[in-house]
Amino acid sequence: MSQLVDSFRRKITYFRVSITDRCNYRCIYCQSEKQFEFIPHQEILRYEEIVEIVEEAVKLGITKVRITGGEPLAREGITDFIRQLREINKLEDISLTTNGFFLSEYAEKLKDAGLTRVNISLDSLQEGKYNRITRGGSLEKVLKGIDSALKADLLPIKINTVLIRGVNDDEVEDFVKLTLERPLNVRFIEFMPSGEESKDNYRDKFISALEIKESLAEKYSFRPVDINSGNGPANYYKIKGAKGTIGFITALSQHFCSSCNRIRLTSNGKLRPCLFSNKEINIKRAIRGTGKDSYNAAVIRKKIIRDKLMEAIKVKPKGHKLDIKNQNNYFFKMSQIGG
Ligand code: SAM
Repeated sequence: MSQLVDSFRRKITYFRVSITDRCNYRCIYCQSEKQFEFIPHQEILRYEEIVEIVEEAVKLGITKVRITGGEPLAREGITDFIRQLREINKLEDISLTTNGFFLSEYAEKLKDAGLTRVNISLDSLQEGKYNRITRGGSLEKVLKGIDSALKADLLPIKINTVLIRGVNDDEVEDFVKLTLERPLNVRFIEFMPSGEESKDNYRDKFISALEIKESLAEKYSFRPVDINSGNGPANYYKIKGAKGTIGFITALSQHFCSSCNRIRLTSNGKLRPCLFSNKEINIKRAIRGTGKDSYNAAVIRKKIIRDKLMEAIKVKPKGHKLDIKNQNNYFFKMSQIGG
């Protein structure tokens, strides 16, 4: 039974864990091209610290963990880390969000280590544009990564596509066609106010999921389907005869806070109960202050971890107020928090 029930009776079962703020890409909606102010290595949680935090979180009722970043596959030792997570009793689902660049090298190894599934970010199917959005990415490598993930059975595969008006909204149908041919679940994500691209004319660049859905409905007929057992943020639809699905994530236009079941751990050891609130609980300071590694110190550390998790759940806000008219105060660094 979950002990992680927040002040609004939401049961928290999903832990998003960022293992690095570093990334081999500089996506225009996520990072600045120039800014290389990475968190110093000693401030980043060590794998064994993350494993211990997840172990305690699972004891309190977490059943699903998503590994993110930065780019999680850019951190050395990721396969062994997944293997250690797999050992945690009662952890049902381990997934990972990646830009896909290194995925063809890793897919089989990750599956073998115990990873359940992957989400792959893909914002254009045109090489030149893909390269401009990601500032240095390789579409060819990501497409190979998707093939490898399918082959390794890292299913269901979700493709994350952030739509920005005037940048990639002309490709919506190309993404939809992907789902006709392949068992991929393409999720159109509303552009959030993070990264350089959102600093100027954000409102003009924002496209609501509803607008996309309505324009697709003029051409295709689709029906709602559930690929998540009902608790993810996306609503999914299937076009008749398609192998995959399309989904919409309406972080701004239609909030899903009332069913939010997640909490985040940043790479520098802060528990973040809500992506859009700056409220953070420093769990690293607490666990690094427990002295040398004796049996007693470990017992105290585990108790502190559980207390900090409970503290974070208690301050999880009811919801956020971010919308298209109210985004100015919400500018945040996605790569540091972990998307
Ligand atoms: N490097 C990995 C990747 O590219 O998927 C994981 C980290 S990335 C921060 C996680 C997700 O956040 C990606 O799917 C990305 O598209 C999404 N994201 C980042 N900035 C965003 C923004 N401004 N609006 C919407 N989604 C965003």
